[in-house]
Amino acid sequence: MSTAYISHQNCQEHDTGQGHPECAARLSAIEDKLLISGLFDFLSNIDAPEVTRDQLLRAHTAGHLAMLEAMMPLEGYERLDPDTVISPGTDKAANRAAGAAVAAVDLIMSGKVKNAFCCVRPPGHHAEHDRAMGFCIYNNIAVGVKHALEAHGLKKVAVVDFDVHQGNGTEDILIGDDRVLYCSIFQHPFFPYTPLPENSERVVSIPLDATAKSTEFRSAVTDHWLPALERFQPEMIFVSAGFDAHRDDDMSYVSLTDADFRWVTEEIVRVAEASAAGRIVSSLEGGYELNSLARCVESHLRVLMGL
Ligand SMILES: [Zn+2]
Repeated sequence: MSTAYISHQNCQEHDTGQGHPECAARLSAIEDKLLISGLFDFLSNIDAPEVTRDQLLRAHTAGHLAMLEAMMPLEGYERLDPDTVISPGTDKAANRAAGAAVAAVDLIMSGKVKNAFCCVRPPGHHAEHDRAMGFCIYNNIAVGVKHALEAHGLKKVAVVDFDVHQGNGTEDILIGDDRVLYCSIFQHPFFPYTPLPENSERVVSIPLDATAKSTEFRSAVTDHWLPALERFQPEMIFVSAGFDAHRDDDMSYVSLTDADFRWVTEEIVRVAEASAAGRIVSSLEGGYELNSLARCVESHLRVLMGL
């Protein structure tokens, strides 16, 4: 059984303006790396479909969709907040990015692939129920999670989020849904400066000091994420795959290495094999230093592919 690589040309056409870190070159860097390494030949390449309005409405309000429609520029740029720039290509890109997560769930549940990586932008984990924020328009992972629960009737899914920023949007949309376990690790205090959620049987939120390195990250995963995941026994695991905690990425101070991202992926795969028949939907979040981003995505994919 193979790994799906789900993306779309439209995701490159979300123009955030010159000098913006969340740029189309991120996806090109990843694709170049996968071409050069030959990995593309062994992936199931899938064009991301556009998400439907009903699929979005499971995670977002009608007001959020209406606001975006009203704000979407026909030319030039608009800002939804100081960081979140939209342009004429954003609408389609955001639709494909959320649609990729839905397609990933469908492909896995139909048995066509074992797991999937959605190589998409804009990212998603800061987008709340009713608000775009921090480069994010729709919460791609939350849309995928809701699709797995509502359209496929899964009873228990987990989201693991190793992006260096707190996933305030995912918290906003998914915390309180008893069918979802949310595990996150992030630099704190740091953007988005939202309150820390209360930890519980369904929320494992681990703030890391800005000086944190490999040891602190791996201890947090080993001591907190893995026991919670093993207790919960998810039927599918979603990964908010952000690579901006890398030491070469100046978006944060946390200093992880290529090996840490490979390791955490191996641990996620191990848990997924134990309870979820290996079912993993991973979607790209942050990661802004192009070389480390491309290397870490390649290694994340190799683990998903069992290489
Ligand atoms: Zn981030």
